[in-house]
Amino acid sequence: MPTSSKFLSVCKQCKAFCCSAVLPILTEEEKNRILSEGVPGHFIKIDHGLYRIKEGSTGVCPYLTKEKSCSIQNLKPKLCKIWPIIPRYKNNIRETLLIHCPLYPFLSDDEIMQAKKEAEALPLDILRHLWDISLESKNKYKRFTYIEI
Ligand code: SF4
Ligand code: SF4
Repeated sequence: MPTSSKFLSVCKQCKAFCCSAVLPILTEEEKNRILSEGVPGHFIKIDHGLYRIKEGSTGVCPYLTKEKSCSIQNLKPKLCKIWPIIPRYKNNIRETLLIHCPLYPFLSDDEIMQAKKEAEALPLDILRHLWDISLESKNKYKRFTYIEI
């Protein structure tokens, strides 16, 4: 779920699907930034310097509020900030996808290009893990179509 408040009504109507479909991967630096603000940690280590947010008791991200907004807006991982643009690493090729979730028609070309740039700058290890996770969660991903950008 993106940061800008202008998108929050679309995301609330969607019931924050992306915050339950695939819990994000984050770097050590992103994890430490969350902890340094006194926010409780909900992380699982998945690789050297890489973590994943641990599913809460309701099966969704523990940082999602009952009102379906993110409680760590300014601290959320890069993968959350750039959604519905996501990087993919398939057959040794880096790609960037635009997911056709209800928010995408509201994004400007500039916002899409900026998110694409940020997706392309993510470490390859994040992309590798993301691909493995997306294979595990492919039924959830099927909800939306997507295009390569
Ligand atoms: S899937 Fe799209 S519309 Fe739904 S909460 Fe996430 S960003 Fe918002
Ligand atoms: S950190 Fe925030 S935006 Fe990211 S999955 Fe959790 S609630 Fe959603």
